[in-house]
Amino acid sequence: MTETVRIGLVLPDVMGTYGDGGNAVVLRQRLRMRGFDAEIIEITLNDPVPESLDIYTLGGAEDSAQRLATRHLQRYPGLQRAAAGGAPVLAICAAIQVLGHWYETSTGERVDGVGLFDVTTAPQHTRAIGEVSTTPLLPGLTQPLTGFENHRGGTKLGGDATPLARVTRGIGNGVGDGLEGVVQGSALGTYMHGPALARNPELADHLIKTALGVENLAPLDLPEVDQLRRERLRA
Ligand code: GLN
Repeated sequence: MTETVRIGLVLPDVMGTYGDGGNAVVLRQRLRMRGFDAEIIEITLNDPVPESLDIYTLGGAEDSAQRLATRHLQRYPGLQRAAAGGAPVLAICAAIQVLGHWYETSTGERVDGVGLFDVTTAPQHTRAIGEVSTTPLLPGLTQPLTGFENHRGGTKLGGDATPLARVTRGIGNGVGDGLEGVVQGSALGTYMHGPALARNPELADHLIKTALGVENLAPLDLPEVDQLRRERLRA
């Protein structure tokens, strides 16, 4: 890894509903507070996707924007190559769908995805909208996860994918299995907006540990984050 930790904010011009770009800001801030140099590299529809970055984040999107992002990632497979090499990837909401084998749009059209996650997504009868809380299943995470979900797609996990968490409140992946999110290798996806990493510092640090190849990080004492978590988990 280079001396500066480089965080790829992938396609914020088309994927980034509900402030999902904030996830990159949280990663940068948590790195800087621990004395690391860190910068955000924005990769737009005008740029090829580099495979040399240390962490990648992608936000949610509506159907048409989602389709533009899918095409771009298929044309420039830097993200897929980086993930295959062990780089951490955080995919929010529509980004799970884009990174799967295929997804169906709200009009029933099937679109081929990037194939990084062993998942498929089809629209459900009702939209999942509201607060979501879960118990993490990913080893190393001990704190409940909290976010805001807004999606109609329901995501089914295949055998190569494992869930991120079990739902305690809200809908999650939306196919009736009580699961939320997806983990496959160094990539993980979640339906949690929020931004997810502002609400879930343990998840942010999981990505940072993977990027740095370390088991532990210096703890950060951030009472305002604890306060935000208390409010959201109680809400
Ligand atoms: N269009 C997708 C769905 O409704 C994703 C929405 C989102 O990212 N908020 O399932």
